[in-house]
Amino acid sequence: MNEMSATPIRKIVHIDMDAFYASVEQRDNRDLRDKPIAVGGSAARGVVAAASYEARVYGVHSAMPSVTAKRKCPDLIFVPPRFDVYKAVSQQIREIFAEYTPLIEPLSLDEAYLDVTDNLKGMEIATEIATEIRARIKQVTGLNASAGISYNKFLAKMASDLNKPNGQAVITPKNGPAFVEALPVKKFHGVGPATAEKMHRLGIDTGADLKGKTLEFLVEHFGKSGPYFHGIARGIDERQVKPDRVRKSVGAEDTFSKDLHAYEPAREGLQPLIEKVWGYCEANGIGAKTVTLKIKYADFNQITRSKTVPGLLPAITDLEEIISLLLAPIFPPPKGIRLLGITLSSLERRAPGTEPQLRLAF
Ligand SMILES: [Mg+2]
Repeated sequence: MNEMSATPIRKIVHIDMDAFYASVEQRDNRDLRDKPIAVGGSAARGVVAAASYEARVYGVHSAMPSVTAKRKCPDLIFVPPRFDVYKAVSQQIREIFAEYTPLIEPLSLDEAYLDVTDNLKGMEIATEIATEIRARIKQVTGLNASAGISYNKFLAKMASDLNKPNGQAVITPKNGPAFVEALPVKKFHGVGPATAEKMHRLGIDTGADLKGKTLEFLVEHFGKSGPYFHGIARGIDERQVKPDRVRKSVGAEDTFSKDLHAYEPAREGLQPLIEKVWGYCEANGIGAKTVTLKIKYADFNQITRSKTVPGLLPAITDLEEIISLLLAPIFPPPKGIRLLGITLSSLERRAPGTEPQLRLAF
């Protein structure tokens, strides 16, 4: 049976800027070119928001504590972020996308899915569209982008990593299933370290292992993610590219390799999550009124703490403040903290002219 026959084959392009914040800084400051740089953090505290490829060679990556990054790469240069500039560049690339399709779904300032099945240029070959878009981005912004081309979002996203930086890759309907089977599940988009570990305990290490499990088994162990995992194991992902996605909430969470007992590391662990959820809202022009902090203890007991404000949160610093206020009373915690999560809800589209402030305190 041809499993693709239920829906017409779509052409999806995932565009991902290479080391975005760091590349913008290197573009704008000659002294930083070809050097290991970290945007965000400082030699003494905070976390790295983005690392240049020169820094990645040393094992420096985003969300890494700055102190660790400096130890791995003693010559690392810390650069303060300029979110207003990143946002402006993001707008430039968004305008380029819009020349090709109105079906643009941004994931963050530097990443988006494009459905180019029926594109505005009448181009037949999605690979050629991706090549053109990357060339236009280079021409307009001076920056490199990578692209993944495939017949669904999951595979397009996986493909954009294959020839990074400054490259692109295509996964066709013919080679999609085999590609997924060979892929370690820990590399799957949507499978975080905690889920990968759980899959490993269930004997699932590759796409082929995942494909070997029934839908019932996956639902039993992974709940509402079960059907998604069942589909992607077969190279199937029916999610549409949604340009004006009206979501009820935006969330991010992280399971820590060691249980946390002190306030400082917990607050630091939350910073990348704050940036992730805020970045998503920014990229999609939405704001939030309700902030929920989730705390899961080592024994898997879970509590949440919420705060709702009267108007949309104006700036990321307001979100940071609320998170700190919600987190502080938890300490000292009754048990070690295994996982922290942030959810933003009561979402509303931001009216034009009420753009959030882009200041980011590290
Ligand atoms: Mg990127």
